[in-house]
Amino acid sequence: MATVAAPAKAECSSCDAVCCRLLVMVEPEDGIAPHLTTEVGGMLVMARGEDGWCVAMDASRMRCSIYDARPDTCRRFHMGGPYCEAVREDYARGIDRTIPLHLSGETG
Ligand code: SF4
Ligand code: SF4
Repeated sequence: MATVAAPAKAECSSCDAVCCRLLVMVEPEDGIAPHLTTEVGGMLVMARGEDGWCVAMDASRMRCSIYDARPDTCRRFHMGGPYCEAVREDYARGIDRTIPLHLSGETG
C-alpha cells in the first residue's frame, strides 16, 4: 500500500489502520489463536504479514477480522491519543515504528 499523508485529524474511518502495523502485545488471557501470534524477543505479539499489517487485518476492507475478540491492547488504543498521533505521523513520513505496544495506561 502506498504511503499517504495522514489527515490532520485522527479518524479511524479515514486512516489506513496504521496502528495495526505496531508490535501489539498479546496476553494469554486474550485467547488469540496461536496462528495469529508470534514471539518477538520472548514476548507474545500479533503476527504481521509481509505488508507490515497485523495478520488479523482484513486487507480488502482495512478492518480487523477479529474485532470482537481482539487483544486488550487493541481495545485500549485511543483514537487521537499520543500513540495514534505518533504512528500516523511516522507512517506519513514513511517510517515504520517497531516498538512494542503495551498500552498499560494510555489516556489520550
Ligand atoms: S486509532 Fe489512530 S492509527 Fe488507529 S486506525 Fe484509528 S486513527 Fe488510525
Ligand atoms: S488484532 Fe485487529 S485491531 Fe489489533 S492490531 Fe490486529 S487487526 Fe488491528
